[in-house]
Amino acid sequence: MINSEASSEFSSPELALKKQKYNSNPLKDRSTDHYRNEYISEFVDKWDSLIDWEGRAKGEGDFFVDVLRSRGKQTVLDVATGTGFHSVRLIEEGFDVTSADGSGAMLAKAFQNAQERGLTLKTLRADWRWLGRSTESRYDAIICLGNSFTHLHDELDRRRVLAEFYAALKPNGILIIDQRNYDYMLDSGYSSKHKYYYCGNQVSAKPIHIAEDLVRFEYSFPDDTSYTLNLCPIRKNYMRKLLREGGFERIRTYGDFESAYSDKDADFFVHVAEKS
Ligand code: SAM
Repeated sequence: MINSEASSEFSSPELALKKQKYNSNPLKDRSTDHYRNEYISEFVDKWDSLIDWEGRAKGEGDFFVDVLRSRGKQTVLDVATGTGFHSVRLIEEGFDVTSADGSGAMLAKAFQNAQERGLTLKTLRADWRWLGRSTESRYDAIICLGNSFTHLHDELDRRRVLAEFYAALKPNGILIIDQRNYDYMLDSGYSSKHKYYYCGNQVSAKPIHIAEDLVRFEYSFPDDTSYTLNLCPIRKNYMRKLLREGGFERIRTYGDFESAYSDKDADFFVHVAEKS
């Protein structure tokens, strides 16, 4: 655990980056490491106006709290903490949360956000691919939310990360992963209700490139700045297959937080999978 005086522990090369770093052809930037060049401090500082904590809390309601509580889970590893929305929400609900992320800029912002709410995050700087090097603890639940898993551009990395998540769970532990409805985006084009995740109404979030191997999202802010993320558009059934082949059982998929949903209407899917 760290305290505010120790914020230098979050230091990392991306904190010094003034501009997002892409090749001359950004459509070629499809490496799993690339997230470090994308979450620069300036973008991280704006992330909360993109997600809008209040709107998001309203959109998802008690979904994650209910999933965890109904299964008696108490210790939670938030592997994609970002600016801390779910870590804070779950701590406030009484869960014992460890907040991990591979981005120092994100963790620093999450720590600050929590402090402003009178909370101290237990932080862990960790890339998912080497999670086991950073923690020997075993958790009742792991959450990987906000479409984060789709930063993994390589199938080997996806399998490796699921193995790391599996190992970090206690027996009967659960993994909760969400993703955009890429099936719809790839097959029919983009549409979004902006109701559940990116709720800020001053901000535009839209794909500027859609293909089977890359979706490039652009986020534009009222001060005329814009940033991009290169994401891998994994399909719903492929994700379920990866979970199954990774040893997870009883995989349930929800659409926009409902168990009864239509594939074409859902913006996001949430997968809840159990370790046997
Ligand atoms: N969960 C937050 C939310 O919903 O607002 C943040 C989502 S943000 C789209 C994705 C997060 O995943 C970033 O904080 C990024 O640093 C983290 N991330 C992406 N790839 C990672 C990796 N390989 N290891 C660790 N963290 C990673």
